[in-house]
Amino acid sequence: MIFKKESIEKRIVATFIGYTLFIVALLWVLQILFLNNYYYIMKRASVMSAGKSIALNLNSDNFSDTLEKLCFHNGMCCVILDEQWNEVYSVDMLGRGCEIHSPSRFSLKDNLSAVMSGERNEQTIRIKNPHFRNDSIVCARAVTNAQGERLMIVMNAHLFPVESSKDILKSQLKLITTLLIIIALCISKFVASRLSRPIRNITQKAKRLANGDYIADYDGGGIMEIDELAETLNFSAEGLSKVEELRRELMANVSHDLKTPLTMIKAYSEMIRDITGDNKEQRNEQLEVIISEADRLTALVTDLIRISREESEIGVINSRSFDIKSMIKDITERFSATNEQYNIIFEAECSDKAYADSDRIGQVLYNLISNAINYTGEDKTVKVKLFKASEKMMRIEITDSGKGIAPEELPMIWERYYRSKNTHQRPIVGSGLGLSIVKSALTAQQLPFGVQSEQGKGSCFWFELPVSNKIEMR
Ligand code: ADP
Repeated sequence: MIFKKESIEKRIVATFIGYTLFIVALLWVLQILFLNNYYYIMKRASVMSAGKSIALNLNSDNFSDTLEKLCFHNGMCCVILDEQWNEVYSVDMLGRGCEIHSPSRFSLKDNLSAVMSGERNEQTIRIKNPHFRNDSIVCARAVTNAQGERLMIVMNAHLFPVESSKDILKSQLKLITTLLIIIALCISKFVASRLSRPIRNITQKAKRLANGDYIADYDGGGIMEIDELAETLNFSAEGLSKVEELRRELMANVSHDLKTPLTMIKAYSEMIRDITGDNKEQRNEQLEVIISEADRLTALVTDLIRISREESEIGVINSRSFDIKSMIKDITERFSATNEQYNIIFEAECSDKAYADSDRIGQVLYNLISNAINYTGEDKTVKVKLFKASEKMMRIEITDSGKGIAPEELPMIWERYYRSKNTHQRPIVGSGLGLSIVKSALTAQQLPFGVQSEQGKGSCFWFELPVSNKIEMR
């Protein structure tokens, strides 16, 4: 179904007015159109119930009094006949208006013989009385008295004209209709403005988001759902402003990190071309610098590529059983070959296979070991340890002897683009993306991880993997 776009206010007002009109229409139909029928049904019910009471009291001592009272209260006349159509009791409340006491107008024998003969238990007849210009109702009911005689109670009540009542009701309903519409208009306007004001405010402020204004001051006006929306927007604005700040920092860092090696590569290349080209020793030294600066660039670009790949692969996990020990061995050997001056020690106390996404675990190891090499201390030592943490889990710890991380920085280092202010100095090249790659790879697989760091002593980054055979047995 396609709805035309309408404001909340318009919709609420229209709904309220529609509902009010429906109620009013219902009142008109019930009160005016069906008043005659409704009155007849009610009258018949009250005469029938009087008939029941008469039958119940038939054998009581003061039956005549009870009968008179019932007739008086229900505005009816009544006659009780035996099987020979003789009157046993009679109350003529309505005088000349009573049909059942005027045999010329209403013949009991003609109309009620079915009840008297026992064919029916009760019978109701609506009769027109041209004499009095109003209808009346005759109800008959068969009963048996204490002596076992069959009797018939016949009651007659007038159906008074309801036209005058209708007029009163009509004027009342007109007033009620006007009042209800005014009240509905006021209430709907009030509710609509209470609902739409905070939404309008939020919309106006949200437009600022698009222009890069990340102030988190959205207010839901105390309405639960809109409050939730406001909170979500506040949260998003805060997140966006953080990302924006980190992005700006990254841009500054990355451009610096890109520019420095490029400048050096250019300078050394020119030097080789113009000055040292023929001096083999000097030329080789300078070529070494060019190669290591190119390596820096490669590392930086690799990180950037990895993080964007990570983003496009969110949620895709390919867990399998793999040999974690030989994976760590391969990676540490590769690092040792390219970092000859570093001492990368691998201690394995467990030979079980692990069960996880091996590609992502490879990324995690690569990043943690590369960080440890970058940040380790004077002894240039990095330790990688693999051991059983529990029956079902194995733990990998990567320990360095560097400066460590300040406690207030610990929660931030996992965030994308975060780089410690103290560490951003050459020769440590980095993008601030390594640990965020680690975090997203481990979180996606719901694996525990963390860091313990002591300033001046070093850091120990760790994570745990499920032992393969234990998982497969589950
Ligand atoms: P970077 O490319 O800057 O290393 P990471 O995301 O890998 O980015 O690390 C974020 C920050 O965490 C680093 O800038 C550094 O301050 C800190 N950090 C990471 N690993 C270590 C470590 N082993 N020792 C000390 N600080 C570390």
